[in-house]
Amino acid sequence: MTATLDTSNYPGNIINNKFVATAKTRHSLNPSNAQPLYEVPVATQEDVDSAVNSAKTAFKTWSKVPFEERARLLLQYADLVESNRTALEELLVKEQGKPLGLAKIEFDMTLGWFRAFATMEVKDDVLDENDERIIIQTFPPIGVCCGIVPWNWPVLLGLGKLGPAIMTGNTFIMKPSPYTPYTDLKLGELGTSIFPPGVFQVLSGGDDLGSMLTEHPGIDKISFTGSITTGKKVMESCAKTLKRVTLELGGNDPAIVCEDVDIDKIVPKIATLAFLNSGQICMLIKRLFVHEKIYDQFRDALVDFTKTLKTGDGFESDVLVGPLQNSMQYEKVKDMYSEIDKCSWTTALEGGVREASNGYFITPAIIDNPPDDSRIVTEEPFGPIIPMLKWSDETEVLERANRGEHGLGASVWTKDLARGERMGRQLLAGSVWINSHFDVAPNVPFGGHKWSGIGSEWGMTGMKAFCNSRSLWIWKKVYD
Ligand code: NAD
Repeated sequence: MTATLDTSNYPGNIINNKFVATAKTRHSLNPSNAQPLYEVPVATQEDVDSAVNSAKTAFKTWSKVPFEERARLLLQYADLVESNRTALEELLVKEQGKPLGLAKIEFDMTLGWFRAFATMEVKDDVLDENDERIIIQTFPPIGVCCGIVPWNWPVLLGLGKLGPAIMTGNTFIMKPSPYTPYTDLKLGELGTSIFPPGVFQVLSGGDDLGSMLTEHPGIDKISFTGSITTGKKVMESCAKTLKRVTLELGGNDPAIVCEDVDIDKIVPKIATLAFLNSGQICMLIKRLFVHEKIYDQFRDALVDFTKTLKTGDGFESDVLVGPLQNSMQYEKVKDMYSEIDKCSWTTALEGGVREASNGYFITPAIIDNPPDDSRIVTEEPFGPIIPMLKWSDETEVLERANRGEHGLGASVWTKDLARGERMGRQLLAGSVWINSHFDVAPNVPFGGHKWSGIGSEWGMTGMKAFCNSRSLWIWKKVYD
């Protein structure tokens, strides 16, 4: 197969470095205009079996390839992706809806992540040594790994699993979301000219393809990113064959704004970190707690700034809020907006469905101090709507922020760093930021507490999540 990309069609799944066409095909829609995109494959059980067999065969040699050689190929792949990035970024905007600037950021991050993973070797650990014996902890790869990917950030979240999986010696099958298969399939196509057959394969299909993979006895690990509901099903299904599982699930992140902040400085950051990608990021600000002393002033400044955020097609300039990604999500978010009237919530900014458009556009809404038990506070809306909540007592706001089943990210905003750290250490979340939100890096573990996930990705913790642990005891003097 060729390394020059044609992003206007797709001939098949990527199995053993070949295009394998399927009898059935499907397509998704461009969320900015609801127009159908081209047909993509629908993998069958036979395709899954074939990919798993190829991955098993490839594992025998790939697991023995030295780290330096794997790193060389990963860097070569990064260069190839980079040289095709303009076409890929445009494809990503067409299928996902996000603004082109954000698609570029997603590719910048992915390339940066690859280049970091290529330096992150998991090394043996000598646990103990004396004249008699040495004990070494080693980290062999698990085997055939599979990444199940959501639709909101399909490139970084898909390839962010590929890198650690193959750098630690596993082979990898990627399953994109049925809503966003296009860019991920093309990324698989690019991989065919770099990696040996069976090392990196991509299968596209519906949600049922996900269960075919989690049920498959030939797959040794699932790394899943998606909703809590599906994550539970994935874990249940993996239990049958005792697969290793990493789950990156939903979030309902609190941000606690203290009374000492410089409102004008942080309002633009907070608004962006709430409405980026139309609120469709697991770790955005989803519950905004603002101290009562500055609440009114902060709310007015937030509303004024949010009004300047442009909603529109991802190819228009200066757009921050694209469409909701698909009709299912659009209906879910519209349902949340319909609660405003039903529950008589006060709106600081009304927002709502953008009429006279075929796309799934909804403009941002800010709900003014709704009750803590309202749906907009307890559920992850995954859309451009957030609640602002008033607080006065530090202990109490920490307790409110820690309520609920989510525990993905959380932040505290204050000039007093000691206070910020003290509060941050009490927040139940896998990532906590003081004066920021949604910072991620390839060398920093990322995961959730409570129902927001199991295990971590990225960082050395994430690399080791693609390894088994082997304690190797070597007795030196038995035959003296
Ligand atoms: P989803 O759970 O509907 O789908 C995720 C993936 O799972 C898709 O590829 C889908 O086809 C597949 N799938 C569906 N049913 C399956 C099954 N029974 N078995 C196996 N796979 C199955 O999630 P989504 O709607 O694509 O993504 C949005 C959710 O993902 C939000 O809740 C968001 O917070 C969460 N998310 C979490 C992170 C994180 O890293 N923690 C990142 C992005 C998104």
